[in-house]
Amino acid sequence: MDFVSELKNILPGKVITQKERKMPYTADASYFTGNEPVAVVIPDSVEEVKKLMKFCFSNGINVVPRGGGTSLTGSSVPMKNSVVLSMSKFDKVLEVRPENMYAIAEPGVRLDDLNNGLKKFNYFYPPDPASSVAATVGGSISTNAGGLRASTYGTTKNWVLGLEVVLPDGSVINTGGRILKISAGYDLTALFVGAEGTLGVITKAILKIWPIPEAIGRMLAYYDSIDKVGKAIAKMKELGIIPLIAEFLDRITMDSLERTRKIEFPKEARFALIVDVSSTIESIKDLMEKTKKILEEFQPVSITVTTDPDEMQKVYEARKGAYSSLLSERNNENERVIIGDIVVPASELPVTLLEAENQIKAHGLKVALFGHIADGNIHMNIYADLSDKKQMDAVDSFQSTMGMIAVKHGGSVSAEHGIGIEKKGLLEMQSREENNEDELLLMKNIKKLIDPKNIMNGGKIFDL
Ligand SMILES: Cc1cc2nc3c(=O)[nH]c(=O)nc-3n(C[C@H](O)[C@H](O)[C@H](O)COP(=O)(O)OP(=O)(O)OC[C@H]3O[C@@H](n4cnc5c(N)ncnc54)[C@H](O)[C@@H]3O)c2cc1C
Repeated sequence: MDFVSELKNILPGKVITQKERKMPYTADASYFTGNEPVAVVIPDSVEEVKKLMKFCFSNGINVVPRGGGTSLTGSSVPMKNSVVLSMSKFDKVLEVRPENMYAIAEPGVRLDDLNNGLKKFNYFYPPDPASSVAATVGGSISTNAGGLRASTYGTTKNWVLGLEVVLPDGSVINTGGRILKISAGYDLTALFVGAEGTLGVITKAILKIWPIPEAIGRMLAYYDSIDKVGKAIAKMKELGIIPLIAEFLDRITMDSLERTRKIEFPKEARFALIVDVSSTIESIKDLMEKTKKILEEFQPVSITVTTDPDEMQKVYEARKGAYSSLLSERNNENERVIIGDIVVPASELPVTLLEAENQIKAHGLKVALFGHIADGNIHMNIYADLSDKKQMDAVDSFQSTMGMIAVKHGGSVSAEHGIGIEKKGLLEMQSREENNEDELLLMKNIKKLIDPKNIMNGGKIFDL
């Protein structure tokens, strides 16, 4: 019996083989298109995941776990001879315990659904990638997602207390626990955070949750130069003001939001800086005053202040939708927007942003800049026609140059989108540049130990 027929026998009713139903799984939100998978499997129990892994392990078939498919680096795209494992039926929040500050969720739960459910407890789960409407618990853990609130709360790695994981050979481990601290050997929970599905399948997650801030205030400051934006953020941090969110938008992004979201920005502004601060009801005004003073030091074109939740939500949603709004600024239908993602220490932001502007000009590209600026994270949104070789070479060169500029300033080639297929070369370059090749070698050796047949999302992060 062939592999697919046997798979159907092992997991009756859970295996998709029709081409037209498999094709949507060949792509994610990146610009990579993968191979048609051998099959798509949609299990609804850990037992079924175990059976699938055991069978694929003995047959040497690659398995690509898939959450919301919003990866921007091709990490959920299937390579040759792969089974896609959709976790969409693992969509339940199993437990919420505010008194112990944790929630237990299945990996297919969408982040917005998780947070909507936590509202009634007056708690939330802080990681907030702009894709939270579609991104899942499992996918965001596997990319160590950041997002808008990472400035105050850090990235996903700070919020995962424990995991249930099915390993490549079908065995199951439980890491961490329902506890806020544990010091019992190696931190294997951390090993699976950011592993991009290359070490095992997450089937359950114990997540730390946090009380919703009492009061939030918003400042919208507009500047005429990019380094003023960077300097304002660095100064804020130097003085101990850690914004809840701090997002910057360039003119192309503002134009796209005006067009698609009907939000008006001052015409003379080249850059917008959205800063939210959170505190108690008693002290929010004072904190906003202090923050505004710092923003004013860098001669903004104008500045507005609000605590109106509806107005704040409108701008927040607009920022989260900025990537899709940017599509309205394409020169033609063939153009895609490729999102670059680098990070530097806050003090290096002004110089890095200026270098980014220079490199955009030098490479002759149209690039919109926005990002989670309080944690030094810059997204370069590059307009390019994938079929235009010359332009794509310029895109590659721009991404490599920006990656190396980030490394030069003590940062990294990837802040929150992972490595996937897109940044394998950049990861090698970073480890060479930092004279840290042994770290990459250790990662490869860990992969070989846990996945000796290289069947867990093989070909992602690095080649063996
Ligand atoms: C419009 C847009 C905005 C974005 N904004 C942000 C942002 O602000 N911050 C940010 O960090 N990212 C952002 N991203 C990137 C992406 O959304 C996030 O990385 C997200 O966390 C991925 O979740 P997902 O469920 O879609 O994962 P997928 O794309 O399905 O998978 C991502 C990786 O996780 C693995 N995986 C999925 N589920 C499991 C599982 N159960 N077990 C093991 N491995 C698994 C996959 O194999 C793959 O390697 C954005 C993407 C888009 C399209």
